[in-house]
Amino acid sequence: MGKLTVIIPSYNEEDNIENTAKTIGETLQNADIEYDLLFVSDGSNDKTYEIVERLHKEDKRVGGIQFSRNFGKEAAIFAGLDYATGDCIAVIDCDLQHPPATLVEMYGLWEEGYEVVEGIKSSRGKESIFYKLFTKIFYGIMSSLMKIDMNKTSDFKLLDRKVVNALLDLPERNTFFRALSFWAGFKSTSVSFDVAQRQAGKSKWSFSGLVKYAISNTTSFTTAPLKAVFVIGVILLIFSAVLGVETLVNYFLNIAADGFTTVILVLLIIGGGIMISLGIMGHYIARIYEEVKGRPRYIVSKITSEKDE
Ligand code: UDP
Ligand code: MG
Repeated sequence: MGKLTVIIPSYNEEDNIENTAKTIGETLQNADIEYDLLFVSDGSNDKTYEIVERLHKEDKRVGGIQFSRNFGKEAAIFAGLDYATGDCIAVIDCDLQHPPATLVEMYGLWEEGYEVVEGIKSSRGKESIFYKLFTKIFYGIMSSLMKIDMNKTSDFKLLDRKVVNALLDLPERNTFFRALSFWAGFKSTSVSFDVAQRQAGKSKWSFSGLVKYAISNTTSFTTAPLKAVFVIGVILLIFSAVLGVETLVNYFLNIAADGFTTVILVLLIIGGGIMISLGIMGHYIARIYEEVKGRPRYIVSKITSEKDE
């Protein structure tokens, strides 16, 4: 037995908070689990945080923090981990797309001694074709690098206090929670769940947001793109060796005049290869720059907790 802290990242979820708090609360009460709910309002500019404060007055198990601005779900999750007091900690979406009943199952596995319980999507729910294709490419790359099927993973997980402390000890700021729990190791298991429809409001993701998320997670988690630059180089080298031989042969045979098309093509290909490589390196340098600046991952502007009664 032990207390479960449920972290709920929430960005402009005023229509969901109350229902979500009630549903999760009831589910955990019925299962006789000691819990508290920690809403992390990610710089919401609607009534999200006010509702959390009101709920806190009625039920001290509901609490929350408010960011000074929108820092993103990843920051919200880590702030939750920072502030969580439970013996085990779960992260769940505010829109009830992750079924609260699965929390009970996860808690049961934790009691059996598992330290990481991953929520695995048995289906991905309703998504546009565009979105599906995009996530397929992104998770395809991540999966082959990490040797796990990332396409089905989610941020819905339950972690033991030990694991949370290990993650909080990581010095880096650019984190990828979804993959870090695998990276951390520990005694792990998984439960599968069906992605439900979003309860109220709209998804907070835009396409450009997703592209940024994918790039930033790839560069924060792996150096594979840098190695790919080397591979591009090798391919271009082989290519140029072949062309080089041909050019020399032509030269010595005194038929070297034509080849304009080849020159243009080579220029374009090499130019493209160099620009892409520079771009990839640029991304990593940007990463290093951000880490070196050492800015906090998030800034808290308000806290609701037991102490401020
Ligand atoms: N979220 C957040 N900060 C953001 C965007 C989203 O805390 O900048 C929260 C959001 O409130 C929700 C969860 O992250 O609880 C998942 O977001 P959403 O449902 O919009 O994403 P989707 O389910 O469409 O992937
Ligand atoms: Mg959602």
